[in-house]
Amino acid sequence: MVIDEILAYNEQFVKQNRLPIIGHKPRKHMAVVTCMDCRLVQMLEQALGLERGDVIELRTAGATISKPERDSGYSDLIRSLAGAIYLLDVREVAVIGHTQCGLAHAEPNVLIASMQALGVDPQPLIEEPGLKNWIGGFDDVHVNVKEVVNVIHSSPYLPAIPVHGLVIDIETGKLEMVERG
Ligand SMILES: [Zn+2]
Repeated sequence: MVIDEILAYNEQFVKQNRLPIIGHKPRKHMAVVTCMDCRLVQMLEQALGLERGDVIELRTAGATISKPERDSGYSDLIRSLAGAIYLLDVREVAVIGHTQCGLAHAEPNVLIASMQALGVDPQPLIEEPGLKNWIGGFDDVHVNVKEVVNVIHSSPYLPAIPVHGLVIDIETGKLEMVERG
């Protein structure tokens, strides 16, 4: 399994590296909300000029917050931002969607087939809240980023701080400002 490869690498890593001790409050007082896409691993930080300790990173499928959770103060995204703001002195948020996101135009039929092939019954989710809503699928990354900015901005559990919406090109790393907070 891949985990064995990782464990073997890690053993060498800790022998060869001594990490500097740094604080847990992000130096730039910023939280970045982005997607879990594997192509963003390392690339996002390099394209934004971010180092270890600079920002809080929160990743969800699609850099989104699913529709059933949007009205709730108990979603993991709002909860995590609350921790970042109230406990770690974050004062600025950037929501960064990306081109070619797997959740744009997510196909419920593909999801149903994949769940069934792995022995999971999608039926209860098809009935409520609907598979597309459950997985957080969207049609337009720009619209999604604006909606997520709005959910964060209007949360009664978060203070009035700047929340920006951006889209990053997954091929070139170019950032596009969609909404300046
Ligand atoms: Zn994505």
